[in-house]
Amino acid sequence: MVADEDGRKNLMLLFSIPIGLVLLLLMMFAYILASPLSFLAGFFTNPQEMAALQAFRAEHGDKVRLQTGMIVLNGKYPMPANGVITSPYGPRIHPVTGKRGFHSGIDIAPEWHSEITSIADGQVVKVGIDDIYGNYILIRHDYPDETFYSFYAHLSEVFTLPDQEIFTGDVIALEGGDPVNDPNPGTSTGHHLHFEIRTNRFAWSHTDPIPYLYPPPPPAQAEEGGEA
Ligand SMILES: [Zn+2]
Repeated sequence: MVADEDGRKNLMLLFSIPIGLVLLLLMMFAYILASPLSFLAGFFTNPQEMAALQAFRAEHGDKVRLQTGMIVLNGKYPMPANGVITSPYGPRIHPVTGKRGFHSGIDIAPEWHSEITSIADGQVVKVGIDDIYGNYILIRHDYPDETFYSFYAHLSEVFTLPDQEIFTGDVIALEGGDPVNDPNPGTSTGHHLHFEIRTNRFAWSHTDPIPYLYPPPPPAQAEEGGEA
């Protein structure tokens, strides 16, 4: 009986190892699929980002005191920049690559190098640099009624550090993205702010920012009678 018991335990152990390994691989695969950019960024620290952060820390210390910038309020949360929307959220032909794709945010075109402000209270999750977004900031917002993330890209200058606490209207960066005149413009034809709302920290969770920035459209009028 003792031998049987041991044998069963060994057998269970023998089965649980490959099952565990397969589960682990599946989870890793799902994670990579869900967010290839942040997955890579997480494992291979971008030396450009590290150098930029170290230089910024050397200059500003561990905490940066942010100024309050201009707040333009149309809807629930204020606009991150004072300019018109030049490209909406949704399917589009990419202006640089010419490929059919999905625009994961809105583009706002304020004056060149104007202030970019946080649309809500929150905490900086990531300050980064990549070939698509150039300099970017991701902020997490925790409110009693909702948790969401705001993402600001093509920045010419960044004023925040990772984990920094942010308040609504804080100037977190300067607009940029000019492919000739700005550092780290990313994939951009001209200066603008690329702004996203995400429901979690991963890029795939983007959602239309318009309901966050503008009031909901009035309900459609019920048609009564009408002319023939
Ligand atoms: Zn964009």
